[in-house]
Amino acid sequence: MDNILEVRDLKISFKTFFGEVEAVRGVSFDVPRSQTVAIVGESGCGKSVTANSIMKLLPDPPAFYKGGSILFEGEDIVKKTDKEMRDIRGKSISMVFQDPMTSLNPTMKVGDQIIEGLMKHESISKEEAKKKAIEILKMVSVPKAETRINQYPHEFSGGMRQRVMIAIAMIMNPKLMIADEPTTALDVTVQAQILDLMKKLQREFGMSIILITHDLGVVADMSNKVEVMYAGQILEEGSVDDIFYNTKHPYTIRLLASLPRLDMDRNDKLQAIHGTPPDLYIPPKGCPFYDRCDKAMVVCKDNMPPVTEHGEGHYCKCWLYHDMYPKEG
Ligand code: SF4
Repeated sequence: MDNILEVRDLKISFKTFFGEVEAVRGVSFDVPRSQTVAIVGESGCGKSVTANSIMKLLPDPPAFYKGGSILFEGEDIVKKTDKEMRDIRGKSISMVFQDPMTSLNPTMKVGDQIIEGLMKHESISKEEAKKKAIEILKMVSVPKAETRINQYPHEFSGGMRQRVMIAIAMIMNPKLMIADEPTTALDVTVQAQILDLMKKLQREFGMSIILITHDLGVVADMSNKVEVMYAGQILEEGSVDDIFYNTKHPYTIRLLASLPRLDMDRNDKLQAIHGTPPDLYIPPKGCPFYDRCDKAMVVCKDNMPPVTEHGEGHYCKCWLYHDMYPKEG
């Protein structure tokens, strides 16, 4: 399959007063053209650090690339200079940030924020750029775009602000959009509208999407491929069907079991995952899920589990699937 992005053995750390935090520890995944890849996991698992590293938006220091590569159309982002990255950001790769309430500049008119990237990357008059901004606002279903373009963010609702954020991300027709928890701050009905809008834009423009989320419902609705991340590593990777219906990793199993289901009785309790993720100041030598796993074995504690394949594109990092694990029967 033709991939627009190939991340290989990516390692990112933060230098802090207390020592080094190994936030991303050897992450590899591909993003095929025109498809959506979801990176899912608990807060602090490294998914947003991974997303920001693709845009080279991590502050250095304290963050630094410790190893690996991020190949965007065959070129390594890690090796790009700040100037080269300014040309890539917004034009080839764009980002929709988590919170539309705080991500827009409150002192700038919405129209000026939409055309900022366009004016920077293309030789275009302000008038033409404004016409394009009105077009894109209509495309993301902002009513009365001609008037709204001259308003400030505080005059927009949360859902409308997120539409503006998507318009900013789309104005240069990027090849890859990274959406970091794009619906977390929105209520459920607006969330559904925003997800439908992203799907529509992807169909029309053929861009690839990396969707960062902790919401498995959003993953099921939007994605072609899923990366389950935990403690800076990918523990399971597969298609949406693999992850939801042929789940292999004990962490993914627990993650799915912690979701509310329609067939639950009102007295049924949600199954929380006991314990907390490991401290990444001192990352564990073995399986990062060891302390919370009800299937943990002696081998898991100090030995990193191998990656095993469970069908095309379905991988899992767990000792339960090693050749020497005793089989039943
Ligand atoms: Fe559990 Fe061991 Fe598998 Fe880790 S490697 S998830 S501790 S069984």
